[in-house]
Amino acid sequence: MEFRDLKAQYQALQQEIDQALLAAVRDGAYIMGPQVKQLEQELAAYVGVKHCISCANGTDALTMVLMCWGIGPGDAVFVPDFTFFASGEVVSFAGAQPVFVDVDPDTFNLDAGKLEREILRVREEGTRKPRAIVAVDLFGQPADYEALERLAERYGLLLLEDGAQGFGGRIGGRRACSFGHAATTSFFPAKPLGCYGDGGAVFTDDDELAARLRSVRVHGKGAYKYDNVRIGMNSRLDTLQAAVLLPKLHAFTRYELDRVNEAAALYTKKLADIVKTPAVRDGYRSSWAQYTIVLQSAEQREAVQAALRERGIPTMIYYPKPMHRQGAFAALPDHEADRFPVTEALCARVLSLPMHPYLREEEIDRVCSALRAAVQAL
Ligand SMILES: *Cc1c(COP(=O)(O)O)cnc(C)c1O
Repeated sequence: MEFRDLKAQYQALQQEIDQALLAAVRDGAYIMGPQVKQLEQELAAYVGVKHCISCANGTDALTMVLMCWGIGPGDAVFVPDFTFFASGEVVSFAGAQPVFVDVDPDTFNLDAGKLEREILRVREEGTRKPRAIVAVDLFGQPADYEALERLAERYGLLLLEDGAQGFGGRIGGRRACSFGHAATTSFFPAKPLGCYGDGGAVFTDDDELAARLRSVRVHGKGAYKYDNVRIGMNSRLDTLQAAVLLPKLHAFTRYELDRVNEAAALYTKKLADIVKTPAVRDGYRSSWAQYTIVLQSAEQREAVQAALRERGIPTMIYYPKPMHRQGAFAALPDHEADRFPVTEALCARVLSLPMHPYLREEEIDRVCSALRAAVQAL
């Protein structure tokens, strides 16, 4: 059994993907070919925003937004303590300081109440200027944007949605990657919508930001390629990756997103009486980047993971370490041990199960019976 079966997806879409790749190779427009523009238009229309600016990966997408917002030394940016490293890395890379905030135990996303306390504390201290919030749609479920947009407004902060795992999710009628002042996603192969290498995108309704991002993506270009008006990056999405993403996007919107939701519902039905299954808030839809259960203790998790491994069932621990404990952030202030109780507990107890649109019902059955046997044997 595969944790995320990318080969099964390729087999299902092989004809379209092979054709798209060959056509792109034959056409020879390897950089910013027409597929890139078409993909950007389709992604913006799907998400429901004015602009999609594709780029080389999800980390660059975040970095470019922070660059365009002028975030740098002396600034504080609030980031969840429970996320992938890049969400905080980009803040330090921009020269600002990430201030990590604990998360909600049920959704794994930023805890808005704790966030407000941190904003007030940093304001009170007065050594750094609160500038922005990076909210993460962890494991596919959008963060609590109703509360986060209110806080951003109240404290004059920019809100950046890190939708690397969230693409395809929604809150009511609003889709992930449309929240805040700008949003980003990643097309890393294992993300909900993945390509065959690295890729990413920024989404925004802000015309001026979009224009600046299109410049920053190509060495800060001005009127033409050899007119450079600002310091930028080289961060384009390859034509080949755009060509792969177009048929994958169609499969994603037509049926893959429904299938992962069906798989998640089945897991939850079969597991809810023995472990803590993931909670999706009322009115929210997840894109199930991960299906993550919470066990009772680190010991129980270790035993369950070992028992599943013995039966050929792969599982992953996302994430084993809180952001504030990463060595790269060791020099930052704000890391008193009692500030992150939920993240600490989650890192010790979470376990992600196989999840992808091509997971078969009998595979889900196998995972669930193995898990039940392992929990009951303890
Ligand atoms: C994967 C991921 C990123 C980074 O995306 P890359 O395309 O790998 O650079 C950023 N944030 C989160 C939450 C992610 O899961």
